Amino acid sequence: MQVLNYINGKMQAALNGNTIDNYEPATGHVYGGVPDSDEADVNLAFEAAKAAKISWANTPAEEKFKWLNALADAIDADRENFAIAESRDQGKPLWLARNEMIRSAQNFRFFATAAMQFASESHAMENKAINYTLRQPIGVVGCISPWNLPLYLFSWKIAPALAAGNTVVAKPSEFTSATAHLLGETCVKIGFPAGVLNIVNGLGPKVGQAMVEHKGIKAISFTGGTATGKHIAATAGPMFKKLSLELGGKNPNIIFEDADIEKALKTSINTSFLNQGEICLCGSRLLIHESKYELVRDRIVDEAKKLKVGNPQLDDTRVGAIVSKPHYEKVLSYIELAKQEGGAVLAGGRALQPEGCEGGWFIEPTVIEGLPFDCRTNTEEIFGPVITLMPFKDEEEALAIANATEYGLAATLWTENLTRAHRMAANLEFGIVWINCWLLRDLRTPFGGAKSSGVGREGGWEAMRFFTEPKNVCIALS
Ligand code: NDP
Repeated sequence: MQVLNYINGKMQAALNGNTIDNYEPATGHVYGGVPDSDEADVNLAFEAAKAAKISWANTPAEEKFKWLNALADAIDADRENFAIAESRDQGKPLWLARNEMIRSAQNFRFFATAAMQFASESHAMENKAINYTLRQPIGVVGCISPWNLPLYLFSWKIAPALAAGNTVVAKPSEFTSATAHLLGETCVKIGFPAGVLNIVNGLGPKVGQAMVEHKGIKAISFTGGTATGKHIAATAGPMFKKLSLELGGKNPNIIFEDADIEKALKTSINTSFLNQGEICLCGSRLLIHESKYELVRDRIVDEAKKLKVGNPQLDDTRVGAIVSKPHYEKVLSYIELAKQEGGAVLAGGRALQPEGCEGGWFIEPTVIEGLPFDCRTNTEEIFGPVITLMPFKDEEEALAIANATEYGLAATLWTENLTRAHRMAANLEFGIVWINCWLLRDLRTPFGGAKSSGVGREGGWEAMRFFTEPKNVCIALS
């Protein structure tokens, strides 16, 4: 697939004509190209967004609702194509890509409704004055998304930005631009208003950096690694841009002795290995009460060994390919590090080449035990199909281990003890806590991380508030 930018309602190559090779993770072969855009393309996209700004901001909520739903309908109508493109581009199993396409369309539908429901607040001062707070669009905003859930995370940003009345310059990861390209084509097909959404493809340090540095782009919503987030904050902070940063994680998945063990085990296999462990919410540290340690360990190891790693296009594949060669090498290097740090690999640990995917980047689901809670393997984000196991003796110790990382994105805990569940939830230093479930998402809830996992929250009204500038108007009554 030859990916194109979508600027001012048209599909177009980078102005400089350059492209970057696009690799298929399952084969390791180049199967297309992505525009190697630069500042000039970002400027062009910005000018288009600026020209469309006033008319989109003044478009009635009912019309915005109609357009966002039209995008959702078009994605739904073409779901299989989108899913095939996403799976081929990212390496994830096709069945998983199909689910994500449903959820991507749902993002547009959800925020279409938000456009209709979002309202200003009013504060009365008895007999003195009335205040009302206008929530006005910011203007042109930037959305930068990563490669793990490409269209899902792209739409998760674009949809609220548009619903709040902004025009958008957006950049997907250069590793996974295929579905963003299809979204651009969809906009052309349905006649989406030109300039309202603009998609610029290319490298983060060129295109992303130009967006972050652009004086006219007043807010940046970014999802990606913590190091990139730090760099973006350092650039955008002195420019006083609004920033939402959704960053890395090192999430604990805690199983107490009183848990429904069968349920915990069943979900924990997904928590550990879904999407090759390339979900920021995956639980990469499995903490198990010492009385159940052997039982849970043996079952998790058995289940991990049974997961079929293979061609992402096949229905029975549970674990697909790692997104890129550099990331594949990074994950493998962490498995080596774990061994050097004294860890015992109980399952997986190796690269493999499934039949028909001989050049691809595949790693076995890997389970490691015997590492101290504060070693690098247990504190740094690996973002692959690798988990570590740690026993704990009581609630206090579980909490201490869970919190012993700079990250604070999501924690999962399994217990049938109600008071313990609430105590733990209150004391876990994470933006999201799941109790007896994982990845159960209500799009109205605040989504994001504490500590080095980010700044700000997305989802529901949080996203609508982020993408608007509040202005208080105070009227005296006498
Ligand atoms: P990166 O930080 O490498 O990249 C994220 C995006 O930022 C990409 O589009 C990238 O472009 C771009 N980028 C890179 N450098 C710059 C720059 N200087 N200025 C502006 N943009 C830039 O993250 P990954 O793509 O590797 O994604 C994985 C990370 O994302 C993991 O750490 C994961 O935990 C995190 N994540 C967090 C989530 C959350 O909600 N908290 C959800 C999902 C993932 P390019 O790819 O072209 O270099």
